[in-house]
Order: sequence, then C-alpha cells, then structure tokens
Amino acid sequence: MINIKGLVKRFDQLEVLKGIDLSIEKGQVFVVIGPSGSGKTTLLRCLNVLEIPSEGAISIDDKSLDFSNRIAKKEIESFRRKSAMVFQHYNLFPHMTALQNVMEGPVTVKKEDREKAREKATTLLNKVGLGDKLDYYPHQLSGGQQQRVGIARALALEPEVMLFDEPTSALDPELVGEVLQVMKDLAGEGITMVVVTHEMRFANDVANKVIFMDQGKIIEQSAPSEMFTNPQEERTRQFLNLIK
Ligand code: ATP
Repeated sequence: MINIKGLVKRFDQLEVLKGIDLSIEKGQVFVVIGPSGSGKTTLLRCLNVLEIPSEGAISIDDKSLDFSNRIAKKEIESFRRKSAMVFQHYNLFPHMTALQNVMEGPVTVKKEDREKAREKATTLLNKVGLGDKLDYYPHQLSGGQQQRVGIARALALEPEVMLFDEPTSALDPELVGEVLQVMKDLAGEGITMVVVTHEMRFANDVANKVIFMDQGKIIEQSAPSEMFTNPQEERTRQFLNLIK
C-alpha cells in the first residue's frame, strides 16, 4: 500500500531524514513517535509531497514517485491526492463556514459538483459529531471542533491514506478526547492512517505498529505491546522513560 525506499530529505546542509525505509499495509494504523526534531513531521510532509524529498522513492497504492528523477508538477499533484493531511493547527479557512471548508477540496481540487460536495460534506460533518455546526465559522468553534472539521475536510478528499500531524497537541487537555475518539472510529473502519502523536495511550490502543524515530532514522518499529513493554534499543528505552 505505502512503500518508502531510501528516503532522504535535506534542508540545505541539514539532513533531516537519513534514509527511511518503510512499508505500510492497507488498513493499518502506524503511529510515529520520537523526540522533537527527529523528523516525524518532515516524514509526513514528504508522504504528502508538501516537501519534495531529496532522494528515494515513495509509492502509495498504484502511484509512485522516484525522487532521483525530475518530476512534473502534474505527477506530484496526482500523487498528493492519494493522501490527505490533518494539521496540528487545523489550517481551516477562517472566512469559510465548517461546511464550506469541507466542500472546498472536492469542488476546487476534484471538480465535484457543488450539490454532491455539499451532501458529502454534511454527511462527514455529521460523522464527526458536528451536524449542528455546519454554518459556524472556525472562530465560533472550539479547538476540538475545529480539528474535527479538519478531519472531515481531509476525509472529503477520499484519500487512500490519512496523515495526522500531532492533531491534538494544540488542544486544551479536555478537548483531546473528542478528537482521539473520531480517529479511533476511523481506525475501526479500516482507514489506513499514519499518525504523529505524543498520545501514547492512543498509540497503545489503536496502532498496529509504532515507529520510533531519532535523528532522521527509524530506530525501531514494532507492535505497541512490544514497543511499550519491551523496547529493543537503548535510545527507545531512554525516550520512553523520559515521557512516562
Ligand atoms: P517536533 O516533535 O518538534 O514537531 P519533528 O520530529 O516533527 O519535531 P521535524 O519538524 O520534522 O521534526 O523537523 C526535523 C528537523 O528539520 C528540525 O531540525 C527542523 O528544524 C528541521 N526543519 C524542518 N522543516 C524545515 C524547513 N522548512 N527548513 C529548514 N529546516 C527545517
């Protein structure tokens, strides 16, 4: 489903990803953990080609990009549609209602008919528990509600993979649960998800695999039961001890 081979990302001299290899099967939930600056967000952004990798190849489903070649913009755009990103700071359009935010991608990117897009957006907002907030603007919604709009907006693009970049870390603690619950429900529906998070309980309850990254490399990957009780690498143990 997702295959990453030899992925390297440099920002000028700084090598942030140092050769990542990773395979993710359809329907799996992978949680990425690791210290600040280890490259977790950059890895997600490379998957969505918001950052262009310096080397390596990524395939999602039937589409692949090999970054050792020059890649046409069109190819990047079509590859990008394989995944959709949920951002830490929601990134909603402030001048659009919840409904308009969710409709925007299907109408402008996928050229869907407005009525059809409106119906789908309404269904998705109902699904994330915001059926009574369709006409609210982001500033009229709590952080947790805004993030649920963010999730509905990503789902509206009907991606093969949902990418979550620390989706709860900007939220007040009492609002974290409602967002994690929506994510748990999606995992239960068999949606393929890659989630960067510090929510270890979510990782433990929902992930098929946890990946520990440090300094641009995958140090260890295993089932959460294994990762959290019997990590194999010293660096993983140190990190897990620090956040306990
Ligand atoms: P955090 O948990 O703090 O979000 P992270 O593991 O997600 O960290 P990244 O955000 O991927 O880490 O950043 C990895 C490194 O890459 C950091 O040193 C960061 O400063 C650097 N970096 C990220 N984006 C850029 C950029 N656009 N230009 C230059 N350096 C960048």
